[in-house]
Order: sequence, then structure tokens, then C-alpha cells
Amino acid sequence: MIKQSALNPENAAFRETVPAGEYFLKVVKAGETIRILDLEGNQAADTLFYNAHNPTERYSAVDTIREQGNVYLTAGSKLVSSENNVMLEITADTCGRHDTVGGACAAESNTTRYALAKKCMHACRDSWLVAVAEHEELGMTKRDITHNINFFMNVPVTADGGLTFADGISDAGKYVELEAKMDVLVMISNCPQLNNPCNGWNPTPIEVLVWS
Ligand SMILES: [Zn+2]
Repeated sequence: MIKQSALNPENAAFRETVPAGEYFLKVVKAGETIRILDLEGNQAADTLFYNAHNPTERYSAVDTIREQGNVYLTAGSKLVSSENNVMLEITADTCGRHDTVGGACAAESNTTRYALAKKCMHACRDSWLVAVAEHEELGMTKRDITHNINFFMNVPVTADGGLTFADGISDAGKYVELEAKMDVLVMISNCPQLNNPCNGWNPTPIEVLVWS
């Protein structure tokens, strides 16, 4: 569902551009709104959410899909945690569909899906591993890297339940906006994938904005 935001970027309390292949890490407090903006179009933003006070509670694809009875995310979707609490709600969305089931790219999946020679290509899982390694204060390890949301990514589920990685439906300037219902740690990998069309074969920057 396409829903525009009433928020003005000029009034945002925080703005940061995240290049493709980099990670983004920030606590968004309950009541604050975060926008992920696809600056140049057709970019996937692989995102994990954690309870900022207890990262063992985290976004759960399984619980979110069950509670809303739909595999896609858009305006009105509530992101549910592994403890069945609502972590965030999508309050605006100009893209219209975000993936819950495709997972993130990794050296291992690049190897099995594409070619052995792709193993050393940078992948989302690497960016998250760097994020937790560079932030020991979080007390997180690779065991905490679980299923993620692929904002802006198009993974249509076929009539017989298959997954397909399709060309993106996002475009330059499209965004998704979420209101935090608890203090959440947001961890984004701005996807560097070059082996499938999730980034239009051209990974590009995103911008993250937060309104207090
Ligand atoms: Zn990726």
C-alpha cells in the first residue's frame, strides 16, 4: 500500500548517507520515526532490529508473517519480535512492497547460488559481522545475526510457494518509514550484491533519517 509521509526531511533530527557495502547502526527510541530512503533506486537495504535493552529479543520474520497473515511488508505492517511484541510499525511507504523471506546475501550463499569464485565478494552478512565486531559494547556475536528484512527488495512468492529474486520495484527517492514502538537497535547492511537483480546490478547509497 502506497502511503506518503507528512514528515519534512528538513526537520529530521538525524540524517546519514550509507554507501553500498557499508553498515548502519543506531538506536531509535520509542516514538521516534526512522526513514530509509532509496537515493538512486533499485537498492536493497537488508535490516535487522533488536530490542536496544536486550538484543536476544529481535525482529522475527516468522512471527511477523503469522501475525499479519501476509509475507510482504508495506504501510500498516507491524514488525513483531521473537517475544511477540510489536517493535515498529510501517507508517509510510512509497515503494509498496518489502521482502521478509529472501534472507541476506553471504559468502556461503554466493558460492552455492552463483559460483565458487564469488566467495570472496563482499556480502551483507560480512557487513553485519563487521558491525558487531566493531561494537563490542553491544555484546553481540555472529549468533545474533538472524533473519532480516530486505527493504525495497522484490522477492515474489509464486502460486506454488516458490521464491523468485525479481527485478526491483523501487526507484530513486522512494522510501519506507517506521515508527518505533520500543527502543530499537537498527542494523542495516546496504547490500553490495552484484550477482542478482536485487540492486539492479548497481549497488547505490541509501539515506537514513530519524525524527524525534
Ligand atoms: Zn546483500
